[in-house]
Amino acid sequence: MNRRAKIVCTIGPACNHPEGIDQLIASGMDVARLNFSHGTHEDHSQAIGYIREASARHKKAVAILGDLCGPKIRVGKLNHPARDIVPGETFAMVSGATAEGDDVPVRYATLAEDLRPGDLIHLDDARIQLKVTHIEGPRVHVLVQEGGHLRNNVGVHLPSGNLTLDVLTEKDKQDLMFGLTAGIDYVAVSFVRSPDDVKLVREICDAWGKRLPICSKIETPQAIENLEAIVETSDAVMVARGDLGVEFPPEQVPVLQRRVLASAAQHRRPVIVATEMLHSMITSTRPTRAEASDVATAIYDGADATMLSGETASGAHPALAVRMMARVVSAAESSPYWVPRMPPPPEPPVPFAEALARTAVSAARDVGARLIAVFTQTGDTARLISKERPTVPVIAFSPSEGIRRRIGLYWNVWARVLSPMRDTDEMVDAVQNHLQAGGLVSPGDKIVLVYGSPIAVTGRTNTVRIVQIQ
Ligand code: PEP
Repeated sequence: MNRRAKIVCTIGPACNHPEGIDQLIASGMDVARLNFSHGTHEDHSQAIGYIREASARHKKAVAILGDLCGPKIRVGKLNHPARDIVPGETFAMVSGATAEGDDVPVRYATLAEDLRPGDLIHLDDARIQLKVTHIEGPRVHVLVQEGGHLRNNVGVHLPSGNLTLDVLTEKDKQDLMFGLTAGIDYVAVSFVRSPDDVKLVREICDAWGKRLPICSKIETPQAIENLEAIVETSDAVMVARGDLGVEFPPEQVPVLQRRVLASAAQHRRPVIVATEMLHSMITSTRPTRAEASDVATAIYDGADATMLSGETASGAHPALAVRMMARVVSAAESSPYWVPRMPPPPEPPVPFAEALARTAVSAARDVGARLIAVFTQTGDTARLISKERPTVPVIAFSPSEGIRRRIGLYWNVWARVLSPMRDTDEMVDAVQNHLQAGGLVSPGDKIVLVYGSPIAVTGRTNTVRIVQIQ
């Protein structure tokens, strides 16, 4: 608990074995991300088994986030071998998996309908940049602005296009069904463009019998346009800088990162900063100075969690990358330059839980409490306390294993379990004993408790109590 922000690790061949996962948890992984863009359901089932076993061994609730690929558009199969294209060259693009002659096929059904002259098309992570000159029936004519190596299957981004894609593909639906059955704790949705996309995924989860918290990946211009409504509708958000940095020029990425962090603070949603955080550690045992600075900046700016992608999924030093990230986070948080990024005050009237969260954090500060202990049935009160940015740790007691895992993503909140109690006096005694036995408090320390009375009723959080440990 000498770190407040959480660490998300992407699971892949470099760590998907019992020892690898064990080492990630021992090194500080709080959330494991299964990237459905890679691997089979069998690989992901194995990972889930290893994560659950290792987290039981380490007595640490680790959340599993299943990341759906989303509707990624790709070039189809070219009639000619891969070739270099140069600025000033022109060619035509058409919808389909294949095309006639030199036309370039794109696996997107309404290409000609959704584009306009002057729109940009980016291929291969924006290495190749094209501009639409005119559209003739199904053929979209383009002028090469930035040249590169044109290959089969590279990704296509249409930053200025008014896309008519469904947020979930058939594969996403199968992956979501797999995730729900296998017991993932969060679902991350790629290429979200509007709050309706989030609502649709929630309706599908509900129809399939399990309401999973939804993490919206912010990576498209449309998501930035509808940011406030998307953040409000989602349970968590991710600054997905990989695709964001393709849709927007590089200089905009840090600006947009701050904008998403500010919105997440305002709506009290956990936010993950993702992609290329310690990228050079895929091969190297040390990050670059710029990478260490990037992680620290995310922490200073108020990220709830930072994410490792290739570093843990396919890198040479997965556990070392996690330990390095934990070190950079802890150093930033314990430096004199770290100040808690408190959210703006809410517009009254606010729900009880939110008012109590604010009161608990200010009481803890005022009395110099050692920690805040919260009893939470759904995790909501723990999340609200976390977003008020208490500098002391928050210990969240929840009877539900699923909620304890979900709490893995919450900034400075650490989940614990206590046996059921009859009344609040018994509960206060049990908390004191538990905290003392774990070495978290000593006689004379003050703690702030947040709970509902009568106990164990969902949505009934109504009490903040200050206790001096006997
Ligand atoms: C990203 O684009 O930054 C991201 C996290 O998504 P993916 O890894 O699916 O591209």
